[in-house]
Amino acid sequence: DGSTRWVHDRAFPVRDGDGRIYRIAGIAEDVTDRKHAEERLEHMAHYDVMTNLPNRVLFYDRLKQALVQAKRNRWTTGIMIIDVDRFKNVNDTLGHAVGDNLLQQIAERLSRSIRSGDTVGRLGGDEFAIVLSTLASAQDVNIVAQKIMTAFNEPFKLEGTEVYVTVSIGITLYPDDSSDQDILIKNADAAMYRAKELGRNSYQFYTPEMNASAIQFLGMESSLRRALEREEIVILYQPVIRLEDRSVAGFEALARWDHPKMGRMSPSEFINIAEETGLIIDLGLFVLERTARQLSTWQRTVRTREPIFASVNVSSRQLLRHDLIHDLRTVLSRSAL
Ligand code: GH3
Ligand code: MG
Repeated sequence: DGSTRWVHDRAFPVRDGDGRIYRIAGIAEDVTDRKHAEERLEHMAHYDVMTNLPNRVLFYDRLKQALVQAKRNRWTTGIMIIDVDRFKNVNDTLGHAVGDNLLQQIAERLSRSIRSGDTVGRLGGDEFAIVLSTLASAQDVNIVAQKIMTAFNEPFKLEGTEVYVTVSIGITLYPDDSSDQDILIKNADAAMYRAKELGRNSYQFYTPEMNASAIQFLGMESSLRRALEREEIVILYQPVIRLEDRSVAGFEALARWDHPKMGRMSPSEFINIAEETGLIIDLGLFVLERTARQLSTWQRTVRTREPIFASVNVSSRQLLRHDLIHDLRTVLSRSAL
C-alpha cells in the first residue's frame, strides 16, 4: 500500500547432493511494530512526556555537542536556566492538572522564542533550560532573554481564566564564564537564584560573586544552627524614648549574631538564611524568651513612671507555621509577665 515497513531478512544456501549451492532460501520477518516500539522507548528516554521537550538527559547531550562545536569554531554559547515564578500558586489555586497545562503552554512559548539550531529542554518541575549555540555575539543573549520576557507579557488561558505568569532567568556564557559543562549549568542556576532574590521577573548574567555567596550560604546554614546552641546570638535593646520628658517608654529587641570569624552581624546578613532554612522558628522563640526575661528583670528592678514595654520582631514564617500564641503564653508565664 506504499507504506514503509522494517524487515529483518535472513538468507541461507540450499545445497544439492554434491554440496553445490543451487539456490538461496530466505526468511523475511516484518519487524515494523517492534521497531516502532523501540523508537517510542527511545523517545520516552529522551523527551519529557508532558511537554515533549528534550528531558534533562537529552538536553545535557545537546549542550555537550554545542560546546564541542563552539570550541572547534571559537563560538560563544549561551546557557539559560528559566524557572517559573510562584508556580506553586497555580497548583494551589487552580489544581495540579491546570498546572500541567500551564507548563505545556510555557514550553510552547519558550520553543517559539528560540531559533531552530538552539535547544530548549525541561530540566524538571517548573525549570527549563536553553542552549543558544548560534550566537553572533554575546549581546545576542540579551535579545533572546528579552524576547522570552516579552513572550510572558501575554496572559495564559487556563480553564477560561487568564493568568499572568513571569519567569526568572539565569544566564552564563561559554567560554567567558567556564568551559566545563557542569560548571556552566551551576553558574546559570546561581544567576537564576539571584534573579529570584532580586524580586523575580528578570534575567541575570552570572558573575563569580554569585558562587561565593552560594558557598557562603551553605556554610552559614550550619553555623547559624550552631550559633543558637552556642549562644552566639545576642540581643540588643534599643530604647524607645518619650519626647515629652525623655523617659524610657520601652524598647525594641534586636538580634545580632556574634560570629566567631565574621564578627558582629546584623539581621540583614542572616535573617534570609534563617527564613529559608526554617531556623527562624527557633531563632524567633529564642529572641522572645530572652526579651521576656530581660523585661521581667527591668520591671522588677528599675523604677519607671509606667510599665515599660518590649517589642519583638516576628517573622511571617512564625505566623504561618508555628503556634505563636502557645509560645507567647509559655514565655509570658515563665517570665511572670
Ligand atoms: P519560585 O518563584 O521561588 O520559583 O516559586 P515556585 O512556587 O515556582 O517554587 P519552585 O520553583 O521551587 O517549585 C516549583 C513547584 O512546581 C514545585 C512543585 O509543587 C511543582 N511541580 C513540579 N513539577 C510539576 C509538574 O509536573 N506539574 C505540576 N502541576 N506541578 C509541578
Ligand atoms: Mg519556580
